[in-house]
Amino acid sequence: MPSQGKGNRLDASAMMRLTLPYIVFTLICAKNFANAAGDHWCYTQEECDAHTWSGECQTGKQQSPIDFTQKNTIQRNDAVRLRFNRKYSDAQDHFMVKNNGHTIQIQLGNDITSDLVMDGDYFKGSYRFSQLHFHWGSHEDKGSEHTVNGNGYVAELHLVHYSNDYKSLKEAVGTKNRRGLAVLGIFFEISNEDNHALQPIVEAISRVKRQEDDLVRVDIPLNVSALLPNDLSLWRYYGSLTTPSCNEVVVWTVFKKAVPISRSQWEAFKASADTKGKSIVDNYRPPQSTINRKVYFLNNVNRERMPEAGEDDRSPPLADSFYENAQRAVNSKAGSSDDKNNQHGSNSGPGRAEVVNSALTGFIFLSIFLQVLITTVFKCR
Ligand SMILES: [Zn+2]
Repeated sequence: MPSQGKGNRLDASAMMRLTLPYIVFTLICAKNFANAAGDHWCYTQEECDAHTWSGECQTGKQQSPIDFTQKNTIQRNDAVRLRFNRKYSDAQDHFMVKNNGHTIQIQLGNDITSDLVMDGDYFKGSYRFSQLHFHWGSHEDKGSEHTVNGNGYVAELHLVHYSNDYKSLKEAVGTKNRRGLAVLGIFFEISNEDNHALQPIVEAISRVKRQEDDLVRVDIPLNVSALLPNDLSLWRYYGSLTTPSCNEVVVWTVFKKAVPISRSQWEAFKASADTKGKSIVDNYRPPQSTINRKVYFLNNVNRERMPEAGEDDRSPPLADSFYENAQRAVNSKAGSSDDKNNQHGSNSGPGRAEVVNSALTGFIFLSIFLQVLITTVFKCR
């Protein structure tokens, strides 16, 4: 673009001086409203359930969970690996449990980070285990967040990981990188027998029956990877956190094969309560739209051990991705290959940055108009 004259630069600076107070005021107000809405949310009461969640929960285009159907998924039969480091497959000698009023959350230390690392084909980089938590229902046919052909499972476990490109879960959530987090979702179905891998967590729940701010240490061995099903066939898609503020930063992996949970183990989850003593149950968000999204079903997934530091990685994961093939075609036209700058896929509509720029420009002109109007009114008096 040709450079602008001095007069234009002065105009721009004056424009900013005039409009900055309005912008600052509006941003502060917006932040306060967002906090007010985000602080109080729930699943089962009309005044605060999922339909009232604000921000990206309402405006997002890649929200989670979703319903998996034959129609909205693309099946792939090529061999794909999920790799876990040695620590991931070892039992931890203790863990921490918390009842936060929305779910039962497990982490391995006081901080939500760990030495458990996974990667795999099409992930692009490795992910660090942060925490796991559950969603469960009041009846056998509901409770999971994701559904299959419209049918729910009694519960769903989420193993939350963040990209090793970031220092913390919080940083990864705040980046707006659509692959900042990797969450593994596991369905549960009622069985006559206990799930032994789940039992340490079931015992821990009895120690946090009521919501508390504190984490409780549990000295029972827990093997996180034993919670995975043997058959790793999975759905994968780009989506969001399923709780406010619903950030679209998650590459989702949901396993098709459900793992067992006995009735008494399910009862333990249903016995937990919030600070008011109200049962925590049906703590799932309903499925969201999959319009304009690709959802893959990977039929041939194998589990492997990830090489440790210093070990030769003879067959590193495929960094390239079928997701990016379409994206690359778009990028090569635009002269950019940075995935982080193209977080919303290859849709032909305007990007988020363009929308924000247009909105900001509109806002600035509106502010100037108001300023002129106010000045005119006072001068008229
Ligand atoms: Zn969850």
